[in-house]
Amino acid sequence: MSENAVIVVVEDDPNIADLVELYLRRDGYRPYQASTGERALEVIAERRPTLIILDVGLAGDLDGLDICRAVRAESDVPIIFLTARDDEIDRVLGLELGADDYVTKPFSPRELVARVKAILRRTEGAAERGGHERPDPIELDLGIVVDPARREVTVADNAVALATREFDLLHYLARNRGLALSRRQLLDAVWGEGWVGDDRTVDVHVRQLRKKLGDGLVLETVWGVGYRLD
Ligand code: CA
Repeated sequence: MSENAVIVVVEDDPNIADLVELYLRRDGYRPYQASTGERALEVIAERRPTLIILDVGLAGDLDGLDICRAVRAESDVPIIFLTARDDEIDRVLGLELGADDYVTKPFSPRELVARVKAILRRTEGAAERGGHERPDPIELDLGIVVDPARREVTVADNAVALATREFDLLHYLARNRGLALSRRQLLDAVWGEGWVGDDRTVDVHVRQLRKKLGDGLVLETVWGVGYRLD
């Protein structure tokens, strides 16, 4: 249940942290703050959050990316990054650890809460579906297999590590093979409707997929439209 979900808010600006906490509380969530990276690791270990909101730029030895790495070593808990500058967005998007979403400062707390809701809805949906049916693996050319039940991609039987969104994107493209899909369609399907990020999010993830899966992946750029997996 996303009601009463525990959310850890890692943010070193107390004004922003308090505002985010206020909005989360108002929607029935249970937020816990941490203002340094060191404290964040303690609070996350203690509270076992359902979702983490993570500022990239933190004062002290550990920044948001360090925290993400530490968390990802142990769990798939969704992470929404708070970013202040373009270069931070690039670092988050290039991160192979799987940021579930990011919000650029200054942001509207209402918008942030909407993102939280969307992500929790999606993770719950995935958990529920997992209990019922087991979707079949999809075989692409040259020995690439996408197995949604195990969330695993193999190339010639070797597992390839993909971030959460990279997997979701590949799976969606695989289910719609041969169709030219616009970046907006891909954003809606993979990141959720109402996600306000820009097109380059898709481009960055496509770049990662091409890099990780190599020449076997026939993922064409359709000029003026988006992408098509053949
Ligand atoms: Ca900061």
